[in-house]
Amino acid sequence: MALSTPKPMNDSHPVSTADFIALENRYGAANYKPLDVVLTRGEGVYVWDVEGKRYLDCLSAYSAVNQGHCHPKILAALKAQAEQLTLTSRAFRNDQLGLFYEELCALTHSHKVLPMNSGAEAVETALKVARKWGYEVKGVPEGLAEIIVCADNFHGRTLSIVGFSTDPSARHGFGPFGPGFKVIPFGDAKALEAAITPNTVAFLVEPIQGEAGVIVPPAGYFKKVRELCTQHRVVLILDEIQTGLGRTGKLLAEEHEGIESDLTLIGKALSGGFYPVSAVLSNVEVMDVLKPGEHGSTFGGNPLACAVARAALRVLTEEGMIENAAKMGARLQAGLRAINSDVVREIRGRGLMVAVELQPHAGGARRYCEALKTRGLLCKETHGHTLRITPPLVITAAQVDAALTEFEGVFAGAGLAAHA
Ligand SMILES: *Cc1c(COP(=O)(O)O)cnc(C)c1O
Repeated sequence: MALSTPKPMNDSHPVSTADFIALENRYGAANYKPLDVVLTRGEGVYVWDVEGKRYLDCLSAYSAVNQGHCHPKILAALKAQAEQLTLTSRAFRNDQLGLFYEELCALTHSHKVLPMNSGAEAVETALKVARKWGYEVKGVPEGLAEIIVCADNFHGRTLSIVGFSTDPSARHGFGPFGPGFKVIPFGDAKALEAAITPNTVAFLVEPIQGEAGVIVPPAGYFKKVRELCTQHRVVLILDEIQTGLGRTGKLLAEEHEGIESDLTLIGKALSGGFYPVSAVLSNVEVMDVLKPGEHGSTFGGNPLACAVARAALRVLTEEGMIENAAKMGARLQAGLRAINSDVVREIRGRGLMVAVELQPHAGGARRYCEALKTRGLLCKETHGHTLRITPPLVITAAQVDAALTEFEGVFAGAGLAAHA
């Protein structure tokens, strides 16, 4: 790869947190700024670092481990399938794919599924399918399809997706970007109505904006969105990659709104954190526009992914995780609201997708994450002033209460002295 490989840093095996961090910093691209904790093991809501310290995970890998770390039943499915067959490519069929389709459709009331790997790939897939539907079914003139998206969206990191991001750090330096996208404010149905033209093929939106800081839209917004999309023949694409699979206390967040999308995107917790698995779910004619050879993925729909996803979906429902998310989410939010703090500006969320927005004078969310880390709780800041709290859905009442004690500790000011 390189003409001169850098010399190894030292001869000894890395053991301490500092050793592992130095290794990462030396060889890795700097596209992340993680907390300085090096994890080596996980079980349920807990993870352990290389020094043996235990933490309550309040991020859940951005909701990819809703089922808790290393869930034994998903692990068993992964092991069993890995010993049997892992990858065939879609050039041949495999005996897990059909079962995965059937179980996923039954659970989500979908008619058609297209399996991919990452969330961004599911988004790309939906955009492609919606455009093709626009040309072939709706009759939009070739090359003129428009897709509407929302400001402060997060849909992934590919070029076409960052091309319609409004986050300067996601976009800057990566252009030129492809045309065909229109950005409107989130939560504003009138803006959607005004933006729709005869060439509009789709509206891509998150039920709750996660990366933007857990922004919950006004009541009735999605009812109106659904009406507008139906009325103007616009494909409603709900990106439930983060909100889906129990996170908000329902299987899909659309259930809170009493609507059904045309395309729904899921990923992250679809594998319980074991493997990248995503899917586009379709409940209308949209998916039928795809013909053999027009879209695909070498790993999409592989038997290992399907077996893992089947187990991940099964435990979500069999073990009552969705109901637990609703109950524990209410407990967590009530507990956070009860904390008497002059740095907290707002608590918002749905189910176990919760955010604490801090006052501008609080000094930023990062230092609260650092203080919580010291107290054995892992959280991640988003957009400077917001802490996102999204523990695994298997969290118990006692664990929620233990977390609240730590939140109260930092929001009341204690534990921040070292960072002030
Ligand atoms: C994480 C996420 C994605 C992207 O998923 P990747 O697997 O990281 O590509 C897309 N949309 C939403 C809402 C997400 O939270």
